[in-house]
Amino acid sequence: MRHANVAFFVPHFGCPHACSFCDQRSISGQSGLASADEVTETCQKAAEHLAGRDFPAEIAFFGGSFTAIDRSVMTELLQAAYPFVQNGSFDGIRLSTRPDAVDQQVLSVLKAYGVTTVELGAQSMDDGVLMQNKRGHSAYQVEKASALIRAEGFSLGLQMMLGLDGDTAEKSRLTAQKIAALQPDCVRIYPTLVVEGTDLARRYRAGQYVPLSLEEAVEQTVWLLSFFEERNIEVIRIGLHSETTLQSSCIAGPIHPAFGELCYSRLWLKKAEKELKERFPKGTEVAFFVPEKDLSKAIGQKKENLRRLAQTGYPAKVIPDPELPKGAPFRVKEVKPCI
Ligand code: SF4
Repeated sequence: MRHANVAFFVPHFGCPHACSFCDQRSISGQSGLASADEVTETCQKAAEHLAGRDFPAEIAFFGGSFTAIDRSVMTELLQAAYPFVQNGSFDGIRLSTRPDAVDQQVLSVLKAYGVTTVELGAQSMDDGVLMQNKRGHSAYQVEKASALIRAEGFSLGLQMMLGLDGDTAEKSRLTAQKIAALQPDCVRIYPTLVVEGTDLARRYRAGQYVPLSLEEAVEQTVWLLSFFEERNIEVIRIGLHSETTLQSSCIAGPIHPAFGELCYSRLWLKKAEKELKERFPKGTEVAFFVPEKDLSKAIGQKKENLRRLAQTGYPAKVIPDPELPKGAPFRVKEVKPCI
């Protein structure tokens, strides 16, 4: 479903840590914290722009650790945003923070100012991986904070990373299982990138850290997408926004301007292969009918999916069906040769 956020980044402010992979200035593309006046001005403009919409919109504080910034600054920002929730211009406020910066007291403040969703940067549920990447919190703290957020009636979002230092595909799957057990309303998946100026960059240059290849990151993400999809947990983001300054500061790792598209396209391929194997003998020529908006995902970049299907013994066509809504499952039929 379409959704809009007017987003403010909270770059590294209030964060007492230096996670191995983090240079928030590069990741968010911004180096300063918005002032309360800027929040008011931006929300006002966005409210005018979004007036009369038929989809939800929220005000979002992303990036650093919102609940760890100076409490008076945090409150000023919320005070600037809240009137736009009260007057119905936005449906709520969402923010991201660290698991160890969440307690009953701060949640009461958030609730008083119309915050509806709290996202936690869990990153991994493996204590060894968390420690190796200098996260400064444990998996238990993620569990505790998640339970508190849910108990206080907020929507819970959990963010996880792939390919962290010391991480493996198996550990990432275990992280996903532990995250699913916390019953989040949404999940974000970020493959680890090596950003200039970080501890990870130093370790990479010293040959002590090997990032995931693009192919490994896609395969691991596709597994996670299937896993969360089967449990009805919505994945609302894969990979960092491409408009950030990351392009120039990323020195290694699975960076791709359309990483999410690559993953959804591969997921489509896996579903297509499974259905073909179950229903048709090899060599059958088939046609897939897909929603118009899913056409590029089905075909794949540079027709990758059609090429792979042909290689596995199923020459395929993909045909847009205007009657199918975006995201609807494909239909597949055998193509009978004309006689
Ligand atoms: S907690 Fe977040 S903002 Fe702080 S160093 Fe780690 S990733 Fe960066």
